[in-house]
This record gives sequence, structure tokens and C-alpha cells, in this order.
Amino acid sequence: MMAIKDKYLIERRYITNRIARSGGRINKVLFLVSHETANNVADADAHFRYFNNVTFQTSAHSFVDHKKILEIIPLNEKAWHVQYQVPTDNVLFGDDANDAAIGIELCRTGDFNEAYDRYVWYHAYLCRTFGLKPREHIVSHEALDPRRRSDPESWLNPNGITWNRFILDVVKYYDNWEEETETEVSPAPEEEVQAEEIVWYLSRGNTGQDVRELQQKLNALGYSLAVDGSFGPATERAVRDFQRDQGLAVDGSYGPATQRALQNAKPKSSSSGSGSTGGTVWYLSRGDTGQEVRELQQKLNALGYSLAVDGSFGPATERAVRAFQRDQGLAVDGSYGPATQRALQNAKPSSGFNLPNTDYWVKSPQFSGAGVREVQEALASLNFYPDRGAPNNGIDGYYGPKTADAVRRFQLIHMGADEADGNYGPKTKRAMEREL
Ligand SMILES: [Zn+2]
Repeated sequence: MMAIKDKYLIERRYITNRIARSGGRINKVLFLVSHETANNVADADAHFRYFNNVTFQTSAHSFVDHKKILEIIPLNEKAWHVQYQVPTDNVLFGDDANDAAIGIELCRTGDFNEAYDRYVWYHAYLCRTFGLKPREHIVSHEALDPRRRSDPESWLNPNGITWNRFILDVVKYYDNWEEETETEVSPAPEEEVQAEEIVWYLSRGNTGQDVRELQQKLNALGYSLAVDGSFGPATERAVRDFQRDQGLAVDGSYGPATQRALQNAKPKSSSSGSGSTGGTVWYLSRGDTGQEVRELQQKLNALGYSLAVDGSFGPATERAVRAFQRDQGLAVDGSYGPATQRALQNAKPSSGFNLPNTDYWVKSPQFSGAGVREVQEALASLNFYPDRGAPNNGIDGYYGPKTADAVRRFQLIHMGADEADGNYGPKTKRAMEREL
């Protein structure tokens, strides 16, 4: 016997594709929108892969199939699951679904009853979590956009479930949330038994509580990191350093082997001076003076942050430190501590390319101009030509399909398949600057 609320586990594995996952925040979850995928062959994991690579703005938070409940977008972030121009969500709930609702998709694969029970339970779970009432705060996609959509009834009805029956089933779980289940719970599938100790796969671009915990663990071992819950360049460097120190394969991402090593690792000896922090860490900030400040200024200068080397940590030095931290994806506080020191030790001098701080993707009319040309020149210098052999190797200042393809090839090699969307933005800029 177990309580209803413990009946299922929720797997949280977030996509990193910033087209499907903008990172925009939901201020308050006001309602739930129920969907079905209308796809007969793709299960929850297949939808994860799809939305991690999709090149247009569409997504939902959660996918439920006969084996799992999978959240692919954190529930405090927006997903794109209902057209903005439909009026019903605003009329009913005072806001657009994409800005204030969780989108839940029912997959068609596998045993319907197994998937349906999870779908019902998960709606009850969300109502409990966000203080919503099943009868008032759950709406079907069809109800919001009846001219274009018929889900989830399009999959519930053929399986003998009406919308009202679905809501009643959610109410039943919701009302008995703390109760023991009357009937014997079917044995959990193998995956869920093994999931007792969940292995999180984390890499560049992931955010959230799991990243925060990883950063705290690395910190406890002496890899100085800002604990900001965002897996950026500094976290990746710390993971790489940890992997190197442990003799693991160094890939900068967090998987089972790194997790095991992290659980068994002991803090680095602070007196040995070994390891990657390279000895004494100086904490420097506005008002400090002396030889350490002078050396900091020299290092920043070597990286192209033009500074007078006067040994005095004044406004100009603080500005340069802030600019450096921003460029490196570090927490920007304008003072010099362990994370900034580590980044400074690994930073390469400026390449001479002035890559733009903007987003480019293929659209009509195309993005064009000096910024696009700079991206193309930088790609070409890395041997990713927009159109090798064509006049000027295709460097024409227009962000068209060939330039997008060069970006995609660069991303595939240097950022991984999950990032290879052919769109240029801050992450790709940083990755290019690392290689230039
Ligand atoms: Zn839908």
C-alpha cells in the first residue's frame, strides 16, 4: 500500500534548445492546459529529442506516456503550447496560456490505461502543487482554440474517456491525495525501481536546482564557483577540472561516472597547492592597492581589456573585471575572487574578431550587415565556410541557409548535437570566442 501522492515518480530532464525553451519566467501558474500529441509513434523520450532540436517556437512542459512522466521544461518557465492570439485563455483566466499555464501532453504510444492513469495523476499533482482546483483550473486545448485544435479529446474519446470523465478522475486523485490507494498498485516498471537514485545528466545550458546542487558539491571540494543554478562556462570549467583531477574522461558534462566520482571525492587539500586553483586565491575589490592589483591589471590588459597598470583597484579596474566576468558568463560582481581567478588563468587573448551580441536566425528578409559578416569571417577562420569555393567563400554579410549551416556545423563539433540549431546567439558567440 502507498499514498496516492507517491504513486508515480516524475522525471525532470530539461531541453536546452533556447528556441523551444526561452527561459522566460511564469510569474504565477494560473491554470493547466491538457493536450495530446497526435503522434502514434513518439513516446515521451522521443518528444524530448524532438523539442531539443526543433527550430521553431513550440513546446510543452510535460510529456506523459505509459512508462513515465517527463518534464522537459521547468515548471517556472514558459512553454509555447497555445497560440497567443486565441482569446479564450484571456477571457477565462485573465492571461495567455503560454505566460501563465503548464502544458501537459498525453502520448499515444504504449498501453492507454497506463498512460492515462499517469496523465490523470499528474494533473492532480499539479493542482496540489500550484493551489489549483481540477474543476476550475484545467482546460483542454480544444476549449481554448476550437477552430484549430481538438485535443486531448481527440485521443481520450476514442479510448472511451469523455472530458467530464477525465476531470472527475483527476478530482478523485486530488481529493484522496494523502490516502492509501484502495487497490493494489501495479508493480512499478523497471525504470522506476532503478530510478530510486536518479542520475541527472547536466551540461552547458541546464539551469535549476540540480545545477545548484552540483555547484555546491564542487564548491565543497574546493572548485570555487558562484552557486547560481546556471550551468555556464565557469561550471563547465569546474566540471572539467574535477574530471581531470579524478582521471575521468574530460567532457565538461555531468553524467553517471562524474556523479559517482563526486560522491566519493574528498575535499582538495588546501595546503598542497596542487589542483587547478593554482595556489593562493587573492580576493580583490574596489579600494585595494598593491602588487596583486597590478598583476590583475596586467592580465586583463593582455586579454584586451585596456587598463592603466597603476596597482590601484578603482572604477576602471572594476569596470574591466565586470566586463571580463560578463564575457566569461560568470556572476558579475566587479570583484576578483576564486571563480574569476580561475577564468582569468584559462582565458585566451582576444581574437581580433568583434562578434555581435545579438541573435541571428534564417528569416525573410535575411539579417544582413557588418555583424553577420563578422560571424562569417570568424567561422571561416575556424574552417567553417558558409560556401567554400564560392566567391569569397560565401562571406556576403547575409544570414542565409548556408551561413546557418556553417553555424550548425560549428555547433555540432564544439557545442554538441543538442546545440546544433544553426542559430547564432550569446552561447554560440562564447563558444566561438573560445575557439578563435
Ligand atoms: Zn494541444
